[in-house]
Amino acid sequence: MTRVRGVAVIGAGPAGSLVAREMARRGADVLLLDRAEFPRWKVCGSCMSPGSASILESVGLGHVLQRLGAVPLTALRLSAGRVRATLGLSRQVAVSREALDHALIQEAVDAGVQFMPGSRVRLGDLASGHQCLHLDQVGGRSEIRARVVVDAAGLVGATAGSDADRSVVRPGSRVGLGAVFKEGPSEYEPGAIHMVMGRYGYVGLVRVEDGRLNVAAAFDPAAVSAAGSPAGAVAEVLSEAGLPSLPESPLLGWRGTPALTRAPGAVVSERLFRVGDAAGYVEPFTGEGMAWAFSGACALAPIATDAAREWTPAHALAWSQAHGQGSHRGQAVCRAVAWGLRQPRLSRVTVRILAHAPGLARPVVRLVESPPRFALEAAPWA
Ligand SMILES: Cc1cc2nc3c(=O)[nH]c(=O)nc-3n(C[C@H](O)[C@H](O)[C@H](O)COP(=O)(O)OP(=O)(O)OC[C@H]3O[C@@H](n4cnc5c(N)ncnc54)[C@H](O)[C@@H]3O)c2cc1C
Repeated sequence: MTRVRGVAVIGAGPAGSLVAREMARRGADVLLLDRAEFPRWKVCGSCMSPGSASILESVGLGHVLQRLGAVPLTALRLSAGRVRATLGLSRQVAVSREALDHALIQEAVDAGVQFMPGSRVRLGDLASGHQCLHLDQVGGRSEIRARVVVDAAGLVGATAGSDADRSVVRPGSRVGLGAVFKEGPSEYEPGAIHMVMGRYGYVGLVRVEDGRLNVAAAFDPAAVSAAGSPAGAVAEVLSEAGLPSLPESPLLGWRGTPALTRAPGAVVSERLFRVGDAAGYVEPFTGEGMAWAFSGACALAPIATDAAREWTPAHALAWSQAHGQGSHRGQAVCRAVAWGLRQPRLSRVTVRILAHAPGLARPVVRLVESPPRFALEAAPWA
């Protein structure tokens, strides 16, 4: 007879590892599953906002960024065509996703979480008292049962194709692209984020803790097809801006993502919670994805831990209300920025104005940098 686990968390990215750790610290029996073997790289700008860092500090994980040697970022260099502006940054850092995600999994394991990498998960049937999950592993297939499941499996989630999946890709959504270069041109210096805006997409370049150059981009899918490859689309934008081109062969990548901007329909159904990108996402220009993932994880942990003891519809209501209120403001700013980026003339004019008056960007930077807050004050288990 298969043992019924307390909680199964699908996906060991920032959302999954942190929610798993926070539930284990509250005494839950937690199994964390990921299809990948770690450390693994993923397409991401690798920039941690002050919001992300302050959430990690608040749960006693402030040492992680220091230990990994995260690089302090002091300048945001914007280019729209040949127009350039530099804005000052404070309290942002760059850190590779291989190192960060691996370290957070380790913190979860230290808190008592059981981690099973190399496990691709599919949602099975909902039975009385538990949810079934199907696992595909190198050694074969198996089934597990959990009183509560957390889907933290990123953009597509682990529940695609099931009745619980009603995620909607927003029309005109861009796709993500990424690669890592061992060295790359020295003009992309440590301590600066280069954001380069083109007509059909934008590219972010930053050096991570070991000096490698991380490149992440968001493009209209048609522009990538027209350019012939992700490398071609990125090369066009850099060349339009008069910036140095990248070497032909990356160390990692090029890799793409599914459509970026999507609404999940429901962030909760019976015995199933969604968090992080699996609960909906918008374009990443403002680099807020990890902050939402961390913030969501902290807000969900007490609700899901309580639900694993005895599931009630009140848990579903609490998470859907908390998530709705928490994600609303930050994602609205990101959607507005994403819209502006699709207007090439507006982007150029904005960058030109910022070149002369960088202080004008301060209110937006401050808003984006503040950690997203999920409304939990009213919840009895907060
Ligand atoms: C181009 C680009 C640039 C970005 N830049 C930044 C940035 O600079 N700063 C920032 O904060 N955010 C950025 N983001 C967003 C950020 O990467 C995400 O928001 C963040 O990774 C979300 O974390 P998550 O834990 O929800 O999902 P993920 O990090 O995607 O983790 C999901 C995990 O689930 C696993 N998984 C998936 N399906 C299954 C399955 N069926 N079974 C088992 N495991 C599964 C995957 O292997 C993965 O490890 C960027 C995103 C893109 C696309």
